[in-house]
Amino acid sequence: MTQTITVIRGDGIGPEIMDATLHVLDALGAGLVYEEADAGLVALEKHGELLPQATLDSISRNKIALKSPLTTPVGDGFSSINVQLRRHFDLYANVRPAASFPNTRSRYTEGVDVITVRENTEGAYSAEGQETAPDGSWAVSVTRNTRKGSERIVRYAFELARRAGRKKVTVVHKANILKSTSGLFLNAARDVAREYPDIECNEMIVDNTCMQLVMRPEQFDVIVTTNLFGDIISDLCAGLIGGLGLIPGANIGADVAIFEAVHGSAPDIAGKGVANPCALLLGGAQMLEHIGMADKAMQLRAAIVATLEAKDSLTPDLGGSGSTMGFARAIASRLAA
Ligand code: NAD
Repeated sequence: MTQTITVIRGDGIGPEIMDATLHVLDALGAGLVYEEADAGLVALEKHGELLPQATLDSISRNKIALKSPLTTPVGDGFSSINVQLRRHFDLYANVRPAASFPNTRSRYTEGVDVITVRENTEGAYSAEGQETAPDGSWAVSVTRNTRKGSERIVRYAFELARRAGRKKVTVVHKANILKSTSGLFLNAARDVAREYPDIECNEMIVDNTCMQLVMRPEQFDVIVTTNLFGDIISDLCAGLIGGLGLIPGANIGADVAIFEAVHGSAPDIAGKGVANPCALLLGGAQMLEHIGMADKAMQLRAAIVATLEAKDSLTPDLGGSGSTMGFARAIASRLAA
């Protein structure tokens, strides 16, 4: 069986980590066919726009995309391409797993295994009604949460928990202060949780969640939360397990799914061949699971863990002196063995 996926090489370290990732996916023998499409600065240079229609068409056709980070130019007139993609395909669930790995620079080389399920289309990032005073002395931004949007993300989190054999879902909110928006999310979550009596559900205020994650991360299993809180909490989780180079993100909608690394295009190390390819590789593992190749996903994760355990060709962010491609080859060699 072959599956065609849209491949977006992206900006900065994007092409380097994509080369490394495709090298490992080929070694895995997953039978993937790659259809390349442009987005980001490369697309701006080549086609005069950051997100060409041809790229949207490719993703619509294949339903699955593997995407490297994209640089969004700073300044007026450029809205984030990632946000545009999420809106265009209604990719409402952002799934960001953070699990301990051996030989990282983290305090927690074991014991952390948290999946953050972040609402990806509403909340503070919907920015509807945004207004700024002409002299810049004030700004207003509207946070918009809907009952439908809240229910579907919480249901997604509980279904994921069931599928993955997880025991607990923690609903993270700020309903004590943000009574209307976060309150709506919490009420919707309580109603949905009643449909899943087999899974423990608890509630936690976001500030306490940050403290608890740092003090006792082992108490968390699946976290479900709104857009802004999920963005911040998942980076906190990345910090717990050794940095952004180890966290993937799946953007899932009813029809289309886009898999990526959580980190950005890292312009400070671009072109040096030292970026850690693991986050995008782990995004590849999420993608394989999504398209029904859970066994290949497990093999890929096991090869990454074995390479970390052997401290074989680790990149500088992990304390080694290896290159992006050298690390990928070390992982691929464990797949062939
Ligand atoms: P960043 O994630 O690119 O970099 C933050 C720090 O982490 C840097 O020091 C970088 O060197 C390091 N880092 C990131 N990925 C790494 C890797 N794989 N291996 C080793 N070190 C790594 O964040 P930033 O500098 O704030 O953003 C740069 C650009 O990326 C911006 O234009 C931003 O808009 C974009 N961005 C894109 C995405 C995406 O496409 N999903 C996500 C975040 C940021």
